[in-house]
Amino acid sequence: MTARPSPSDRPFPRTLVPVQELHDAPLAPLTTFRLGGPATRLLTATTDAEVVEAVREADAAATPLLVIGGGSNLVIGDKGFEGTALRVATKGFALSGTTLELAAGEIWTDAVARTVEAGLAGIECLAGIPGSAGATPIQNVGAYGQEVSSTISEVIAYDRRTRETVTLPDAECAFSYRHSRFKAEPDRYVVLRVRFELEDAGGLSAPLRYAETARAMGVEQGERVPAQDARETVLRLRAGKGMVLDSEDHDTWSAGSFFTNPVLGPEQYAAFLARAKERLGDEVAPPAFPAPDGGTKTSAAWLIDRAGFTKGYGTGPARISTKHTLALTNRGDATTDDLLALAREVVAGVHAAFGVTLVNEPVTVGVSL
Ligand SMILES: Cc1cc2nc3c(=O)[nH]c(=O)nc-3n(C[C@H](O)[C@H](O)[C@H](O)COP(=O)(O)OP(=O)(O)OC[C@H]3O[C@@H](n4cnc5c(N)ncnc54)[C@H](O)[C@@H]3O)c2cc1C
Repeated sequence: MTARPSPSDRPFPRTLVPVQELHDAPLAPLTTFRLGGPATRLLTATTDAEVVEAVREADAAATPLLVIGGGSNLVIGDKGFEGTALRVATKGFALSGTTLELAAGEIWTDAVARTVEAGLAGIECLAGIPGSAGATPIQNVGAYGQEVSSTISEVIAYDRRTRETVTLPDAECAFSYRHSRFKAEPDRYVVLRVRFELEDAGGLSAPLRYAETARAMGVEQGERVPAQDARETVLRLRAGKGMVLDSEDHDTWSAGSFFTNPVLGPEQYAAFLARAKERLGDEVAPPAFPAPDGGTKTSAAWLIDRAGFTKGYGTGPARISTKHTLALTNRGDATTDDLLALAREVVAGVHAAFGVTLVNEPVTVGVSL
């Protein structure tokens, strides 16, 4: 990695902002997969003004831009990224009553811990999710019965189309399951700040929506528990599944869940159920949850497992996690091509077994499944 503060021999305009700048910078260390080739140029911005200036500069030069937070939901191709990679490393945690404002670069799980310490409820079950606060609205991050869309009140973002900073109220963010307006228009918004409206329940959590969490805490679904206990229980459950980052544990060299849970329309669901019964017997009962518009959400982990890709599957450098069927992992010396080969094998196997096409959850850069 070569650091060149102000290069004049590169086809980029000289940056006007005091951002940290590197050339031919490896991106793999910036991702939780530890995969991907270099970026032509890597900037690290530590203030909103630097973020906006860097984006404006890249756009003015028509240079492709890749925004990076914690790199925990990114699959970057082995050839890397030809353009400007912008690492958002802004800081800012402001809590006023129940209103929380986070700078995009804040570490999400640390922010969750601080809200719980402050006795507030609403995001305690999202503890342990890696990455930055600014990325949470992108795929409407969710786990253990909570999603950020329930507590986000506003997202402040730089709009690359209008070249202005805009404040988008929750209702304009088009949040749905692992999706949002920001994901739908990937090259338009750069999130600068996220505002949340939390709940003061006297130190108690929000009602527990997820059966596994309630069971682990010995209460009924819908009950409240001390928010700190809910957070710690979630962290323990997550760690058991390799869903909390641990650099020593290759099961966490992943992007978490690699596939989203499929949402099937009535006809698709009926066809899937028939295939499942044919394959696994009439008694089979695949997980099924009601989804919007009459759809049914089933479990990607169940499909993968029942198609024969069990925990630890694989013999190469990219394998299924030994702790969770839904996480594809780098065992240490994988390439992105290895990872994609495994992902394609799983997609093809699940489709052959059940007629359902899995869709990847992480964002792919320069590659596709
Ligand atoms: C072990 C593990 C467990 C996980 N568990 C969960 C889970 O339980 N639930 C869940 O929902 N996700 C989970 N994830 C996925 C991931 O942590 C989240 O999606 C997280 O929000 C990504 O944040 P990030 O900062 O790392 O984003 P990155 O990976 O850096 O970026 C992801 C996408 O967001 C864009 N982006 C990042 N920052 C900004 C910004 N400021 N403005 C605009 N675009 C931006 C990027 O360009 C990219 O398209 C897990 C990942 C891992 C590795």
